[in-house]
Amino acid sequence: FVRCVNVRKSFGSNEVLKGINLEVKKGEVLVILGPSGSGKSTLLRCINHLESMDSGLITVGGEAIGYEWRNGELWEAPYAKVARQRRKIGMVFQAFNLFPHLTVLQNVMEFPVHVHGVPKDVAQKKALEILDRVGLADKAYQYPRRLSGGQQQRVSIARALAIEPELLLFDEPTSALDPELVGEVLNTMKDLAGQGYTMIIVTHEIPFTREVADRVVFMAGGVVVEEGKPSDVMVHPKTERFRTFLSRYL
Ligand code: ATP
Ligand code: MG
Repeated sequence: FVRCVNVRKSFGSNEVLKGINLEVKKGEVLVILGPSGSGKSTLLRCINHLESMDSGLITVGGEAIGYEWRNGELWEAPYAKVARQRRKIGMVFQAFNLFPHLTVLQNVMEFPVHVHGVPKDVAQKKALEILDRVGLADKAYQYPRRLSGGQQQRVSIARALAIEPELLLFDEPTSALDPELVGEVLNTMKDLAGQGYTMIIVTHEIPFTREVADRVVFMAGGVVVEEGKPSDVMVHPKTERFRTFLSRYL
């Protein structure tokens, strides 16, 4: 469903992605592990074209993201097309990025109503349903600052779900949380995995990865170093690099 083919990206002379290949099937949960600076966030940002690539191809549901073929060559797609493609992809960041002046419910309704043109009553009904699914129905009329970090992050997950995405991207969604709040967010993500969402998750939560990931990719220095089922690669890492990484996070 998601395919990255030989994705390369440099910032100046710093080559951050050195030919990344990966594939995610529909309904699959892929966890990307890797040390700081290995290019994990850059790869996620390429997948929804928040970042352009130098070369390579990323397709979601068979459609090239951010680029299109013209006269046998790949060209950057017009903005309207990129915007339409992004609507299929929900992203959750480390920082919750909620609108502070809007209630929880308004935050979740914001994109469907103002970007997708969904009628307000329809969007509200849907938003309340989604808030219920992430266990926050009773917070719908609160403002974000009144919520704990874990609750705020669950609101931003609800907001990502409200666009009815075909793909969910998570970039270290629990890294900014106090330790005692991490579990509730991971549980919400686990529920989504159980509901069949296609998810790509960058995280350092090793036990969560073992439990929830269908497949794991270990990135370092801009390349995929190891890849496989958690029950294989995380139990018997082939490289010293992955072994050391895992021991550091356990
Ligand atoms: P972390 O675990 O710390 O989040 P990461 O694996 O997500 O790390 P990236 O954020 O993808 O790593 O960054 C990889 C490299 O690219 C780093 O050396 C970073 O400094 C560089 N980089 C990222 N974004 C930019 C940018 N917009 N301009 C210049 N350099 C960048
Ligand atoms: Mg990052």
